[in-house]
Amino acid sequence: MSPQEKLFEWYNAFGRHDLPWRNTTDAYHIYLSEIMLQQTQVKTVVERFYFPFLSAFPTLQDVANAHLDDVLKKWEGLGYYTRARNLHHTAFTCKGILPQSVEELIALKGIGKSTAHAICVFAYHQTLPILDANVKRILCRFFGLHVSNEKELWEKAWELLHVKHPYEHNQAMMDLGSMICTAKKPMCAKCPLHVKCLGQNEPEMYRLPKKKAPVPVRKKIALVMQKEGKLGLVQRKERLLHGLWGFVQIEELPAKYTKLGTVQHVYTHFKLELEVLLCESIQEVEGWFDVEEIEKLAISTVDKKILKLFTASMPYQ
Ligand code: SF4
Repeated sequence: MSPQEKLFEWYNAFGRHDLPWRNTTDAYHIYLSEIMLQQTQVKTVVERFYFPFLSAFPTLQDVANAHLDDVLKKWEGLGYYTRARNLHHTAFTCKGILPQSVEELIALKGIGKSTAHAICVFAYHQTLPILDANVKRILCRFFGLHVSNEKELWEKAWELLHVKHPYEHNQAMMDLGSMICTAKKPMCAKCPLHVKCLGQNEPEMYRLPKKKAPVPVRKKIALVMQKEGKLGLVQRKERLLHGLWGFVQIEELPAKYTKLGTVQHVYTHFKLELEVLLCESIQEVEGWFDVEEIEKLAISTVDKKILKLFTASMPYQ
């Protein structure tokens, strides 16, 4: 039996068939799952974000019609907000209907080649491979590739593709990568590909996870500015949190303040340490809100921590 057939049988027996985006052909639902899963684990997406987002925006046209602030609010906690901004942009650009060709999908903001292939395979049943991080790892091990580039990996993905069952093949590759051919300690004895796999005896030689460099620490000061019972916020302009509301961050201590505490947050490339100070209005802001109003805005996790510190400092009423 070919490796493709073995993988197909394995998927039928052990695949995660109950994932919600595997029980629909709605291209928007599949696209949403692909985008959410780019940086977030399946369990988190299923349990906390996928269904609330779909109930707020049942169609891509609803995303297109929504204000970006509302989309960001529903994305709150998932992080990597560029994904939400691109989703909103794409919904608007394609007028709520995703195109059905890889070329047209790739032209949309935030949709790369593998995501475009995934949408075409899972929603439109086209015969294409996908190439996410899990699939790359399996291909490197299976074909014994020490040095690989995208072009070579795409060629290998095509070579291994089960052309009769592309849908199941790609779902199987994703499941195999997260359940069997994992980054650390792959379970080769249970793997449907093990007979033909060149990396089965030394799987860790192929695409070992890179050693992470120590994360740099950025120290700043966050201002909780108060005026007439309201707090001053700005709308973030920087790429990472663009569009979210948050407290002003500065480098130098102001003249008068009360220290509320410190908060920390780890981003992908750095760790942020903020000294949180309560003070009067000393900087320009874009809006003044009370706590209840802030809770309805789209704000980042770090600003939520600052707000929590502030509310904990308030006298009990
Ligand atoms: S045999 Fe081992 S290394 Fe090869 S694909 Fe399966 S789990 Fe991965």
